[in-house]
Parts: sequence; C-alpha cells; structure tokens
Amino acid sequence: MENSVFDMTSLLRDHIRTMKPYSSARDEFEEVSDDFVFLDANENPFGTATGEKYNRYPDPYQRAVKEKLSVVKNVPKENIFLGNGSDEPIDLLFRAFVEAGQDNVIILPPTYGMYQVSATLNNVELREVPLTKELDLDTKGILNSIDEYTKIIFVCSPNNPTGNSMSIDKIETLLDNFNGLVVVDEAYIDFSDQESFSQRLSQYPNLIVLQTFSKAWGMAGLRLGMMFASQEIIRIFNIIKPPYNINQLTQEKALECLDHVDKVDEMVETMINERTRLKEELEKLPQVKNIYPSDANFLLIQVENATSDYKKLIDNNVVIRNRANVLLCEEGLRISIGTKEENDKFITAFKAL
Ligand SMILES: *Cc1c(COP(=O)(O)O)cnc(C)c1O
Repeated sequence: MENSVFDMTSLLRDHIRTMKPYSSARDEFEEVSDDFVFLDANENPFGTATGEKYNRYPDPYQRAVKEKLSVVKNVPKENIFLGNGSDEPIDLLFRAFVEAGQDNVIILPPTYGMYQVSATLNNVELREVPLTKELDLDTKGILNSIDEYTKIIFVCSPNNPTGNSMSIDKIETLLDNFNGLVVVDEAYIDFSDQESFSQRLSQYPNLIVLQTFSKAWGMAGLRLGMMFASQEIIRIFNIIKPPYNINQLTQEKALECLDHVDKVDEMVETMINERTRLKEELEKLPQVKNIYPSDANFLLIQVENATSDYKKLIDNNVVIRNRANVLLCEEGLRISIGTKEENDKFITAFKAL
C-alpha cells in the first residue's frame, strides 16, 4: 500500500465492496410517529415486564446521539460511527479491510492488547515494530515494515500501558507516507493537552480516530465506542455492522451524559490533579525507579520487583495492573487514578511494602 494514492474502495476486501446490508423493519419504514401502528418488527406491543419501555428496537444509526456528539466533538455526524465499545470498530476494521492469510497489520508494542486479539481472531498476520527507547514511534522502522499487503497501522496515543502521547509529526509522517489506514486510538485523549486527530479528517482520507465513552465519560459499563473517519468509510461500516449494535438504554444514557459535559470536564480535571499528586508522592519513594510521563488516567511506574509488589498490594486489598513482563515496561506497575481516598489507600499500602 505504498507509493500510490489512497483509494478506500481498492483497500476493501472484495466481497465487502458489493455487500448489501441487512434491511431492518426500520430501514424499510423509517418514520417513527404515533400516527402509525407498528406491526412490522415482531416486537411485543405491551412494553417490558419491568414496566419500562424497551420493547421497541433502537435506532440502528443512533441519529440522536450522533447529532449531540457531533456538536460536542466538533465532528460532522456523517463522519461518526458508534460501536459496542471500541472493540467493535477495531473488529470491523479487520472484517472490512484485512484479508485473512494474505494481508497484514502493524502494531507498535508495548500497546493495547485488543489489536492483537482482533488480528488473531481474524487470522491475520501481525507485524510488530516496537516503540523507540523514548517510547515514541519508530517511523523509519514502521515504514520499512510496510509492504503491498499492509492494510492498517495501529497507533495508540496517549498509549496504553505507557501513558505518553506519540509525536504529532511522526503520526503525520505515517499518514503522509502510507496509503493504507492509520488508526489513531485516542481512548485517553481527554486527559491530554494534545489536539485530537478528529479535527483532521478532511486532511487525511486514510485516518481513523477511535475514542470511547469508557474512560473520561464514565460509561465503561454501558459499552459505547466512537470512530471518526471519512464518510465513505462510515458508509461501509453502516453496511457491515450488526443492525442494532447500540442498545436503547446505552443510547438514552449517552444522550443524558452529553448534556453534562461540564460534569465530565470537572471529573477529568480532578483525575488530572490526582495524577499530579500521586506522581509527586511516588517520586518521594526510593522503591520507585521510574515514573513514565502520563497523558492518561493512569501512571506506569518501574520498581525492583513488580510481581512481588503486585501480590503484596492485593494482600492489602489494593488491585493495580502488573505489567512486569511487557516490552519496555519491565518491572512495570500500572496504577489507574482513583478518587483521593482510593489513591491514599494505594499510597499507604505501597509505602508499607
Ligand atoms: C480502554 C481502552 C479502549 C476502550 O475500549 P472500550 O471497548 O471502548 O471500552 C480503547 N483503546 C484503548 C487503548 C484503551 O485503553
């Protein structure tokens, strides 16, 4: 996929190019109003056993949510796809673009585990180009690993599990020099000062931006992921997705949350302040060898023996993430930023080790 112009259609798997979507009752008759009786979707007309009203199928295209989200994110609604968590668009990317046993994708370890899981599930070759010692993109190494069968490069920024952001200009280099898709996973962008790549879709037709309601928005239990991309990519995703991939309750709660952006901003600010405080506390401790710079809602630290510390913390009822055996994170522990009280419990238990 190098040295040619980006062409979304030629990037697609052959059978996706001509695929027809499932046609739901609400696709065939869209208008929803009390003027009609709806006897077309085999729903229960009475309601839900709880007395609530979840008896009707939800909007397959989540139009109301996208309308509001479009304003909050400053992205046209035609450029938005919503998924059952970010996991769903990640999987759909493979299904749409990557041919099993033929194509390959590139990941940049240490990084988020789902890219590899989706690649394996879809029987796709995975090429790994580790981050540099400075935990930034090895653009030369990445571009050297590309061949005509490379379809996607997954960039996680801010990165999980290290917490740092990738250089903007290095991401731009990939976008400029690769004619496959560059996925920028911005799950933690709300905790960062860096500008989102969601504002640059018109500049880069090969750009896919992932964000999520699971972190800053506090909706991990409801499962809602966002993908921002060109209209033609969104059109394909609307054809291949399961028809009702976002349930009614999630759509309703997302709409509510989108009316409380101030509250989200306030929680994010509190978490960032706690991140700073936790970092300062940890810097005082001799057992902490290194604290990675973080633009996310967690800190990665290096200690003498991560697995031993991890187990001892569990004995003290504090659960963090053991990253001891992860490339470039050796003897690493990842600590999510909690409330002040939760962070204090961690610090007290950690000091006592
Ligand atoms: C948490 C996280 C996500 C979010 O996944 P959801 O399926 O939306 O909950 C995506 N990418 C990264 C890198 C993450 O850490």
